[in-house]
Amino acid sequence: MTQQRKIILQESEIPTHWYNIMADMPNKPLPPLHPGTHQPIGPEDLAPLFPMELIKQEVSTDKWIEIPEEVRDIYTLWRPTPMYRAYGLEKALGTKSKIYYKYEGVSPAGSHKPNTAVPQAYYNMKEGVKKIATETGAGQWGSALSFACKLFGIECEVFMVKVSYEGKPYRKVMMNTWGGTVHASPSSLTHAGKTILAKDPQSPGSLGIAISEAVEVAATNNDTKYSLGSVLNHVLMHQTIIGLEALKQLEKAGDYPDIVVAPFGGGSNFAGIAFPFLQNNLTGGKKIRAIAVEPTSCPKLTRGEFRYDFGDTVGMTPLIPMYTLGHNFIPSPIHAGGLRYHGAGAIVSQLLKDGIIEANAINQTECFEAGLLFSGSEGIIPAPEATHAIAEVIRQAKQADEEGVSKTILFNLCGHGHFDLSAYENYLAGKIKDYEVSKDEISASLAELDTPAI
Ligand SMILES: *Cc1c(COP(=O)(O)O)cnc(C)c1O
Repeated sequence: MTQQRKIILQESEIPTHWYNIMADMPNKPLPPLHPGTHQPIGPEDLAPLFPMELIKQEVSTDKWIEIPEEVRDIYTLWRPTPMYRAYGLEKALGTKSKIYYKYEGVSPAGSHKPNTAVPQAYYNMKEGVKKIATETGAGQWGSALSFACKLFGIECEVFMVKVSYEGKPYRKVMMNTWGGTVHASPSSLTHAGKTILAKDPQSPGSLGIAISEAVEVAATNNDTKYSLGSVLNHVLMHQTIIGLEALKQLEKAGDYPDIVVAPFGGGSNFAGIAFPFLQNNLTGGKKIRAIAVEPTSCPKLTRGEFRYDFGDTVGMTPLIPMYTLGHNFIPSPIHAGGLRYHGAGAIVSQLLKDGIIEANAINQTECFEAGLLFSGSEGIIPAPEATHAIAEVIRQAKQADEEGVSKTILFNLCGHGHFDLSAYENYLAGKIKDYEVSKDEISASLAELDTPAI
């Protein structure tokens, strides 16, 4: 053995605080607005949906927020997660660049999602909440929250986007195994679901619709709160545990990235790996380029509009200042289910607007091709979402080679693809096609919005 492949930390090195990038942003995000009055909302408006501690975190500008002892203790079930130097991929590409990846697929649910599911369930438990309602796209968030709720004795009710419910039956069984109840969304259990079904009985569902259903259940039941797996400030902050560990690991390897890459759904795993490095960008330290990668079928960052929009389809959530394709936009049924969301979190949207982060959109065939090259050189079969980061890393490494330079590239391997094998089956059978949204489709969806422009 000549080269060290794995860079690992001890349990005692798990960070004690999450990093809140709000403290260092040159322009803070605009405030969320009330869906009815369009006035800025206060903590009391969110109280029916979230426990007070999470509301405080949502609006906090404190730079560091302590991770509760009980949460750190549960984190040790899978954290610290390993970082790998991708020698196999580097060799397969014949690149002079160095590639590292942080692997979040070692968590019980197989993705980064438990990093926030556990603290969210914990704060709900502390405030006496009996049940949490939520949505899930590809099933990853629903499994993570079912797992976390089980640990704290809370009931978990999940609205799962119908195409995924039908395409990924084992994700549902996983949620059931951890005690979660799962409904295909749109369902006839809520007013929101019935409204959608009345318009389109064949609706494949979307994250936006499933959020409406879960919010409705929480808003109309006293003992039930709502929980979101991405987009919101506190969710992004919980995920910074990824980047904070990565900083320590790269320090051990004596390295620092030029480029940090992650796939982008609502922004949580991207924020998780990139924000702790961007802290240095924003405070006069070493600079990285942070690149968020979205699918061409759902290109809110690269082709959406920066304006106020709802987080859900029916218009029940607060209005968030975000890059959006419009809350009625229903993305094509690509295989990266976790990236099929019409909008982006307020913090990541502001950072993109201010040129502090970059975004790119890639077609799914290029992503699957990258996923196959990765699994064939590094072993791990990546989640279809994660292949978007890998495809971008390959582009960056090739470009560096063409320019005759060597870059250090870090990416987030946010999950494994063991529940996405039907997607790989389709790819191997040559059945995967690319979806590029037309200009007209995007303008038509945005034209329907009567939410405030910015
Ligand atoms: C949920 C999910 C995503 C997308 O959500 P983000 O909040 O943007 O991270 C990406 N990859 C995996 C594996 C996921 O589970």
